[in-house]
Amino acid sequence: MSTKSALDDVVSKILVWEEERPMEAVFFDVDFTLIHPGPTFDGSGYQSFAARHGLSVEPSRFTEAVCVASVELDSSNDNIYRPDPFIQYAKRVLVEMGASGSALDACAREIYDEWATCQHFSLYEDVRPTFSDLNKAGYSISLISNTHRCLETFQNHFDLSAFVTAAVSSSDQGYLKPHPSIFHEALRLVGVPAEQGVMVGDSVTHDVSGARQVGMAAVLLVRSGDVTNRRDDGVPEIRSLVELPSLLARWPVELSASE
Ligand SMILES: [Mg+2]
Repeated sequence: MSTKSALDDVVSKILVWEEERPMEAVFFDVDFTLIHPGPTFDGSGYQSFAARHGLSVEPSRFTEAVCVASVELDSSNDNIYRPDPFIQYAKRVLVEMGASGSALDACAREIYDEWATCQHFSLYEDVRPTFSDLNKAGYSISLISNTHRCLETFQNHFDLSAFVTAAVSSSDQGYLKPHPSIFHEALRLVGVPAEQGVMVGDSVTHDVSGARQVGMAAVLLVRSGDVTNRRDDGVPEIRSLVELPSLLARWPVELSASE
């Protein structure tokens, strides 16, 4: 074999290895991916918050109020983390439910503050078995969350610390997903290149698009509603986290099939 063909052979082997290099790190969104709020944050919960501040709301208007108020969360274009849009969101929900008066700001601030309290949330049943399986399979597990909740407290509260390598919250890091810097910071902490990381979350905008723009892979979690299994952009969809270990085990096949 000539020197050139031997070199070509080595290069082609490296290229194949690069293409087939498996995922090493899995990054999870937190809210509505790992945990969901309990009654503190439904219509009756908002009624309790309101009552503590002398406000009156109609709990049956909660679902519609949440839909209307969601525009408040899209008010920032720079993705810099600030409490204000979240407080304005809570205030708008209260207003849409019928509240008015000078106590609105204080009530909305209390709702925002309480969102950081783990006791108001439950862990989805598929989290612990999935983390355990991923851990046994050798993947690192990390968290990237648009939150002001302390993620160390979150891990301790739900007894997940043993599984988690790194955690980045937007309130600490300074930016919200889908800003590239929050993904880059998580990758840096874990010590993997973007192409060896996959982001798993329930938001197309924050989790899927954000991860893909920095070169990571993504999996969309659709806990309810229609699942197409693969979106037009090739991103796999799962209905439960328990689907994740087998999906990642097939990942080079999934990746090549989607391109
Ligand atoms: Mg989420």
